[in-house]
Amino acid sequence: MKLKIDKSFCVGNARCAAVSSELFPLDEEGYIAVEEIDVPAGMEELARRGARACPERIIEVADGGE
Ligand code: SF4
Repeated sequence: MKLKIDKSFCVGNARCAAVSSELFPLDEEGYIAVEEIDVPAGMEELARRGARACPERIIEVADGGE
């Protein structure tokens, strides 16, 4: 599973990182640091929760294979 993030619309409230700081790295100003995340096996539910936690709705779950 992959997550795609429309980083330019991040408002830096760190809701995603509050779900999992491991999955959702923030930059030094508290904005999401990456545009794409390869979700490690076993972390899919956390990834979905993180996506739902973003009030800006900029974290999209891309379930498809490569
Ligand atoms: S929850 Fe959304 S808006 Fe907030 S820091 Fe994470 S990606 Fe940015």
